[in-house]
Amino acid sequence: MERRRIVIIGSGPAGYCCAIYAARANLKPLLFEGFYSGPAGGQLMTTTEVENYPGFPNGITGPELVDACRKQAARFGTDLLTEDVVSVDLSRRPFIVRGGQTSVEADSLVIATGALAKRLDVPGARDGEFWQKGVTACAVCDGAAPIFRNRPLYVFGGGDTAVEEATFLTKFGSRVYLVHRRKELRASKIMANRVMNDPKIEIIWNHELERVEGDKVVHAVALRDIDTGQITKHEAAGVFFAIGHEPNTAFLQGQLELDEHRYIKVKPGTSYTSKEGVFAAGDVQDHIYRQAVTAAGSGCMAALDAERWLSAQGVR
Ligand code: NAP
Repeated sequence: MERRRIVIIGSGPAGYCCAIYAARANLKPLLFEGFYSGPAGGQLMTTTEVENYPGFPNGITGPELVDACRKQAARFGTDLLTEDVVSVDLSRRPFIVRGGQTSVEADSLVIATGALAKRLDVPGARDGEFWQKGVTACAVCDGAAPIFRNRPLYVFGGGDTAVEEATFLTKFGSRVYLVHRRKELRASKIMANRVMNDPKIEIIWNHELERVEGDKVVHAVALRDIDTGQITKHEAAGVFFAIGHEPNTAFLQGQLELDEHRYIKVKPGTSYTSKEGVFAAGDVQDHIYRQAVTAAGSGCMAALDAERWLSAQGVR
């Protein structure tokens, strides 16, 4: 089995930035980009304009930013594998990383597997019902589908993702309804103001999704008023969940300490995990900031931590 000084799992800004630093430190990193688990590039692949990443005064799209990071990592000698990691063995050193086709030994490991969009578990929205037949958790990926054209669309959530997705969907739907369970948006002021002032978007406060109805595709949503419990039915062609994320930590199978929301615990101010030689970066260890720029910064930290740790072990 091939042995590497550093293996990085994950291809968002955290993984690529870690790879750039590790490659420039001559560590010849191997990076598992993922395949079935979602698009290489992580959540940025489903983001339209990124306006808050420094260095791009006119904004940049998520996929363009990912592509640039990927090329930068490759340019300094990162080996990129378009494979999912199926499991890891952290009980021995070197660690073992098992991919779909490739298994490697790793003296150090950086986990930057990010997080996935959450779904509401209500009747009609589940697998085998209307999931992917009008119900989705990614407006940017699916919003342009013909079934949504000039039809009423419903977005659920009150954070930046929800307002961003609602705004994006105004290009396609006849009208976009943003349904939030409270009376105040969690989204940043600037983005919240955009939806509040958009004539194509209506915010439905204090409501929850009760169920999704249709035949082959979605035709209606039933909403429940949280105060009164009253249920109302509304014509709908699309249901878009934008209610936050779940960290991708299942493949670790209990080998690292996680917090109560299953995010990897790191020693504060560092990328050190509960296992010596294993480092974590990006959204998989951060449910507070969750920005592309903080993910990239923590990827840099992981590379520097791993490099220093490897040197201290005498691995060069
Ligand atoms: P978030 O900030 O955690 O917001 C999730 C929203 O979903 C909240 O409004 C929450 O309601 C609601 N929600 C959660 N569970 C729910 C449930 N079971 N039923 C109904 N509603 C539910 O997640 P996010 O919007 O994905 O944003 C994550 C991070 O990424 C944030 O830091 C955000 O600033 C950032 N982000 C930035 C941009 C950008 O700058 N372009 C774009 C997207 C995201 P409550 O408010 O009641 O808790």
